[in-house]
Amino acid sequence: MKKLINDVAHVVPDMLAGLAALHPTLSLLQGKNIVLRADARAAAERGEVALISGGGAGHEPAHGGYVGAGMLSAAVAGEVFTSPSTDAVLDAIRAVAGKAGVLLIVKNYTGDRLNFGLAAEIARAEGIPVEMVVVADDVALAANGDHAGRRGLAGTVLVHKIAGAAAACSATLQQVAQVARDAAAALGTMGVALTPCIVPAAGKPGFTLGEGEIEWGLGIHGEAGVERGRLVTADDVAARLLDQIIGDLQLQADEHVLLLVNNLGGTPASELDIVAGAALAHLARRRIKVERAWAGTFLSALEMAGISLTLLRVDGQRLALLDAVTEAPAWPATNGHVADAAHVTVATNAAAPSATSATEGTRMAPDATLRHVIDAVCACLEQAESVLTDMDQKVGDGDLGISMARAAQGIREDIAEWPSEQDPAAVLRAMSATVRRVVGGTSGPLYAILLMRAAATLETQQRIDAAAWAAAFAEAVKGVMELGGAKAGDRTMIDALGPASAALQAALASGARLGAALEATAAAAAEGAQATASMTPRRGRSSYIGQRALGHADPGAHAVALWLASIRDALNA
Ligand code: ADP
Ligand code: MG
Repeated sequence: MKKLINDVAHVVPDMLAGLAALHPTLSLLQGKNIVLRADARAAAERGEVALISGGGAGHEPAHGGYVGAGMLSAAVAGEVFTSPSTDAVLDAIRAVAGKAGVLLIVKNYTGDRLNFGLAAEIARAEGIPVEMVVVADDVALAANGDHAGRRGLAGTVLVHKIAGAAAACSATLQQVAQVARDAAAALGTMGVALTPCIVPAAGKPGFTLGEGEIEWGLGIHGEAGVERGRLVTADDVAARLLDQIIGDLQLQADEHVLLLVNNLGGTPASELDIVAGAALAHLARRRIKVERAWAGTFLSALEMAGISLTLLRVDGQRLALLDAVTEAPAWPATNGHVADAAHVTVATNAAAPSATSATEGTRMAPDATLRHVIDAVCACLEQAESVLTDMDQKVGDGDLGISMARAAQGIREDIAEWPSEQDPAAVLRAMSATVRRVVGGTSGPLYAILLMRAAATLETQQRIDAAAWAAAFAEAVKGVMELGGAKAGDRTMIDALGPASAALQAALASGARLGAALEATAAAAAEGAQATASMTPRRGRSSYIGQRALGHADPGAHAVALWLASIRDALNA
């Protein structure tokens, strides 16, 4: 287990201390794991109903992050995934209660019900008006099954918001409790987990999931779900979860809802957005009108990868309460309005003038030598994908194989539109444009300038012969050095390109025939690439790992050696 903590015994107080240190609107109740609104007393004296929620820790930002004007007055945290004690709840009640009383919002777990319930009873005996609302929004479990009742999940946060807004408008305890109960009854949540999570004090996961397995309908305490299945697409996940919630809430077409896409803790924001898009599309297909939608980490299960979806039926009054301002730090700052489908995409500006696409009749002949060479290079790059991926994983980020294969694929797709082999400079320009468009990273722009400079040099040549190509190659390498700033010995593709270009010119100058000159060129590139294994990187991503690159050849240089060898073979065949 690896966690950024100081001591497993201090996870909860340390986390709450950090939260309070970050937010001047929050205070901690001395010596307790209780977060309070800094202005809780003043609010109580104004006659506001106080709202308290909480439960085991591990669901951050719930519940401490929802403390603030317009939401909770206090949040009581137990140990990770352990209900807080009755006395802790009682401490919170006494800290924030005024004449208007206190509403406890409790997620439906036995421990929470008992501790919050008992604290409520004791507080009432002390003369404090207390109401309790239990949230059980989990639709994975049957409403009346043989279990401890449906669990409280991410939808609870919406109850905090709605009740908090009502309390801020000076509603009475009965009114706030009713608004909260109505919201709880209009909620449904279901989730799916891709990985389990590790309770710090336990040190190991509560369940294990095989590669390609997911857990449907899980709880938020690291417990297993109702069903294990194989990994399906984000679209399918969204559809299944939503269909279950829609069925449970008996939502009909044209009804209005709020959608919450909740990160269980370990899901990248990118995947959350993919699921959110899928969920909105599915709701649109089912003709359910989404009035508000948010995606983010609302109620987590430590670092569990996975998501839950929540739907809440809304009307004008509930929307107004959801829209009301709150100071709670974890409530989203955006207004939750959903984009109109018509505005999601805008057309790009008119394409740049295409100097490269040929007019009818002047395209490259399928049997042209140049075409033959380009095909050979593409085949070579496609074949080299996994080797280059492995090499780039050792010293870079592992994308070079994919980048080179993308270049090959882009070239194959575009080549039919390129100009005739009679104008090789125009062909190289077209190739440069394709590479520039489809390849990113470092190698994309470097290959684009390589081809652009070669084209520009060829255009200045009287005759397109071997010497002209050699001159073009030499200028192209210079272009790469200018743009990339690498010199010989920096451990980049230059260490293959430079020796290759020099070898080509030397061979031609000494009167070698083309075949022999290409032989020398490819050999120099291979030797240069091999030599990079003993060079310390000074450019590109490899430079970050320094000496650790030693013993591994530079992938970009190796790629150069490979495609030069494929040109040699194509022309010598
Ligand atoms: P990245 O993923 O780091 O953006 P790529 O994977 O596209 O880069 O390309 C990595 C290769 O690019 C390296 O193996 C090296 O040969 C080459 N390279 C990196 N930096 C330079 C540079 N400044 N000049 C020339 N070549 C470079
Ligand atoms: Mg890379």
